[in-house]
Amino acid sequence: MREILIPVLYLVASFLFIYGIKGLGSPLKAVKANQLSALGMLLAIVATLLVKDIVSFEYILIGLVVGSGIGALLAYTVKMTDMPQMVGLLNGFGGGASAIVAFAELLIRLHNAEANPSQIADFLNLKSGLTIQLSIIIGGVTFTGSLIAFGKLQGIVTGKVVKLPGHNILNILLLAGAVALIVFSSIYPGDLNAYYVSLAVALILGIMLVLPIGGADMPVAISLLNSYSGLAAAATGFVINNEMLIIAGALVGASGVILTNIMCKAMNRSLMNVLLGGWANAAASGGADAQTEKKTVKSVDSEEAAMLFSVASNVVIVPGYGMAVAQAQHTVKELMDNLEKKGVNVRFAIHPVAGRMPGHMNILLAEANIPYDKLLALEDINDDFKNTDISLIIGANDVVNPAARNNPQSTIYGMPILNVDYSKTVVIIKRSMASGYAGIENDLFYNDNSLMYFGDAKDALVKLNNELKNL
Ligand code: NDP
Repeated sequence: MREILIPVLYLVASFLFIYGIKGLGSPLKAVKANQLSALGMLLAIVATLLVKDIVSFEYILIGLVVGSGIGALLAYTVKMTDMPQMVGLLNGFGGGASAIVAFAELLIRLHNAEANPSQIADFLNLKSGLTIQLSIIIGGVTFTGSLIAFGKLQGIVTGKVVKLPGHNILNILLLAGAVALIVFSSIYPGDLNAYYVSLAVALILGIMLVLPIGGADMPVAISLLNSYSGLAAAATGFVINNEMLIIAGALVGASGVILTNIMCKAMNRSLMNVLLGGWANAAASGGADAQTEKKTVKSVDSEEAAMLFSVASNVVIVPGYGMAVAQAQHTVKELMDNLEKKGVNVRFAIHPVAGRMPGHMNILLAEANIPYDKLLALEDINDDFKNTDISLIIGANDVVNPAARNNPQSTIYGMPILNVDYSKTVVIIKRSMASGYAGIENDLFYNDNSLMYFGDAKDALVKLNNELKNL
């Protein structure tokens, strides 16, 4: 019975994972798709519980309850704006867990081989050496790499580029060492020391790979580490002969690679350039983004801003990280309703890396019931800014910085941006003149057609809505 039930449950779980990932492509189906994938994971865990030949049923159950409890607590308490850190941390735990499981399996195999010397080749062979090393190395890199990414996003580790002298050469040497150790263990699978060395190399390599990734490149780093965590899980699936882990790991690995590719395209960067800290180099060497001359900005209050909006016909709203911080999405919806009542055509321009995670703005605006057809991607709206009366920037900064287009010395040069500066008027809501995530000055604020409306996004929008109602 168990022999049939487990593969069937694994098959259903795999179907739910694949169906779930497919559904995530559409905002309308995303919530249901996520729930179906979670159901798939529950089935996979139940099926695995049925195997229970290493640890007793009770221990697995306790682990399940404690783990789910911590997961639920984090999901409910972590702020939406802190989600990327959370995802980074979860990637790291996934990689670390894969490496630990592979190591535990290695110790069991070494023990079995010692107890049954005549069957040593059954326990330690090319496949075990290769897959255990892959698990340890990919899992180890994912673990420390993700911790550094978490630290950078959380502000514990500097978001700037950190490069040691000869950093890239050191990385190449560590990578070559890791490959040599994989080959060594494939030939001599019973040498425990080689696995310890691999673990050390992998942990150092993870730190070394993520430290030079700076500022605006973090989306790519997070999606790449997500992919690594899947590959580590798939490798561990081969180690312990668990088809479910292989399928789930391969799905995460492949979707992570696709996401990384999308992120690279969104930022007009090659993966190699990100890994080598290319943009960051410009900042470190040239300081080309530094503001030398003192410029002035024009600012407006809520009343003046309302007057402008009351005579506009076409408005494009550009949300950014600051809207998420202020949780202003519902107030944005009110503004949209108020403007539409006055006959204004309101649309939203969504930059692929606005906020702090892929799809961040779409999720928030969907939560506020803003219709999907009003959200336009960068390539669909960029040519329309010249016909726009007002572009309203709400807590966005890097994604509208014209330096990406105009300044070859800038650290973000080449990144596609929303061309808001081509609109007739640009109103920018933010609290101060502070820079965005990339840590660079934004010349947009000083343009003749730009008006700063200083304040917390939510407060500023509440005041604007009140003024508009009075007009
Ligand atoms: P930015 O980080 O460039 O700028 C956000 C702006 O919001 C800041 O300048 C800040 O200015 C303002 N702000 C913060 N809090 C508030 C508030 N309560 N009310 C009003 N304004 C506020 O955001 P963007 O969305 O333009 O760009 C995203 C950046 O994050 C890019 O560099 C991207 O590469 C990076 N990134 C993106 C990830 C992703 O997957 N999307 C992941 C990791 C990084 P002030 O303090 O003056 O208010």
